[in-house]
Formats: sequence, structure tokens, C-alpha cells
Amino acid sequence: MAAVTIPVACGDAIRSPEAPNEAPSPSGSAAAALALVDSHCHIVFRNFDDDLDAVAQRWREAGIRRLLHACVEPSEIPAIRALADRFPELRYSVGVHPLDTEHWQADTAQVLRAAAEADPRVLAIGELGLDLFREKNLDQQLAVLRPQLDLACELDLPVIIHCRDAAEAMLAELRERRERGACPRGVMHCWGGTPEEMDGFLELGLFISFSGTVTFPKAEATHACARQVPADRYLVETDCPFLAPVPRRGKRNEPAYVAAVAQRVADLRGESLETVAHQSTANAEALFGLGLGPAADTV
Ligand SMILES: [Zn+2]
Repeated sequence: MAAVTIPVACGDAIRSPEAPNEAPSPSGSAAAALALVDSHCHIVFRNFDDDLDAVAQRWREAGIRRLLHACVEPSEIPAIRALADRFPELRYSVGVHPLDTEHWQADTAQVLRAAAEADPRVLAIGELGLDLFREKNLDQQLAVLRPQLDLACELDLPVIIHCRDAAEAMLAELRERRERGACPRGVMHCWGGTPEEMDGFLELGLFISFSGTVTFPKAEATHACARQVPADRYLVETDCPFLAPVPRRGKRNEPAYVAAVAQRVADLRGESLETVAHQSTANAEALFGLGLGPAADTV
């Protein structure tokens, strides 16, 4: 089915040079009342090859106004850029994931800089970070992390931070950088830490992004974080194809399911889905500059 294209913004912000295309509006009155952002997805992966148009139709019906596509290593960039050409609501980041350090070459910082400068749809550097759950090569990971944090500062772009079993090392790195004015703004993606760790990242000015893990019954620390995080500092994401929310846990995840993440965050906070959709979208707009303009203000 061909999507109907109408302006999503009341003003003309959507037609700015940063946002050359108009995103289709979701269909259906309930979805139209929501303006969700999937702040972290990976639809470039091969397991979307066969049905991506159907996946897109479902995210439009769910009210997803923007998707921020994360990058794990530079060879993905042309394919992600092609997806942004195909789906006007898609924006993306460029970066190297901490579990992909073998992809960091002598010229990688320059490759990332060139990609970011060449396309205004590149809104962040990442995903970058530290992962000591799967690997213990902290020095190697730091050697890939630091030049990317420098690049984000240089380009004045936010960072998308992957941090697993490494909060202490990440906080130390960012606090040291803040001392010398070199800590970029950004988001802790797929948040799974404790409230105490969250407070440390909030104090550094970072946002906290909740994924499908917040729907898992035993994720009590994540639940506590969702209750406690300030209203103006949280995002929602799928991290698809990983981490499908309950009741689809274990299956392929997709951007439409970010609504289930937002619903769980709303339940934990004792708020309506509309409130969380509005707030998380406004926060994503504030952090990344998604080009939604007044459309984020539809509730
Ligand atoms: Zn990711």
C-alpha cells in the first residue's frame, strides 16, 4: 500500500535543509495522536531483507515519526544511507561499537567525520562505548572510544553510548573529560544499570534510553530507573532486531514495538501512554534535533 505523504509539522521546520523529505503520517486516529521516536534501531540487518515495507507500514501505523538508525562499524554506512533515502523518517548515526574494535583503522575517525559532514541526516556519533560483559579488552575499547568522543565534540554532535558491565569505567572516562570540557552530550542507550549509576550519567548531562528490557518482569533495577528518571531526560528505543519487548520476547524486534516500551514506561511512572510518547519524543528532539519541530507537540 502506498503511504500517503502529508506534512507532519504545522510550520515549515520539516522542509529545512536538515530534513529534506517529509515523513508519512501514521494512519488511524489512535496512532495519529501518538508521535513516537524509535531512538535506536538496526533495520540494516539481513533479517529485515524480506519484509521491510511491511515493517515500515507497521511503524507508521504505530505513530513512529522518526527512527534513529545506529551504526556499529563504518562498512554499514552506505546501506544505512540508502535506507534513509528509502524511508524519509529515518536519521542515523555513524560510529564503531565496542565489540567491533577490529574495525577501527588508522583512517576511521576521518571516515566517520566525512560521513557525518556529507549528510545532514547524520545526527549522532555511535554507537560507541564499553562492553566488559562480552569482552575484557578495556584498553582496546578505550582506544576506539576516545577518538569518537573527540569527534563528537569537534562536530558538536551527541553520542549514542553502549555500556554493559562497564558503568564505572565509563563514568570515570566521562568525568575526566568533563573536567577539561571534552564530554559530549548524548544518551545511554538500552539502559540496564542501577539507579545509582543512572544518577551518575544524569549528572553528566546524559539522557537515559529504555528498550524492551524494561518490559522484562525481572528487570527490577531498570523499572526503578524508569520510575525515577526526570521527565525531561528519557528516551525510548527498540534496539531492533534485538530485545523484543514482552509479549514478543525472543522474537525479531521491529520499530513499531517501541510503543510497547513506551507503554511499560508509562505504567511504571503512573502516567498515560500519550504523556510518555509526547515526553520521550520531545526529549529525542531536544537531544538529536530530529526535524520534527512543532509536530512533537501534538498531544
Ligand atoms: Zn544498538
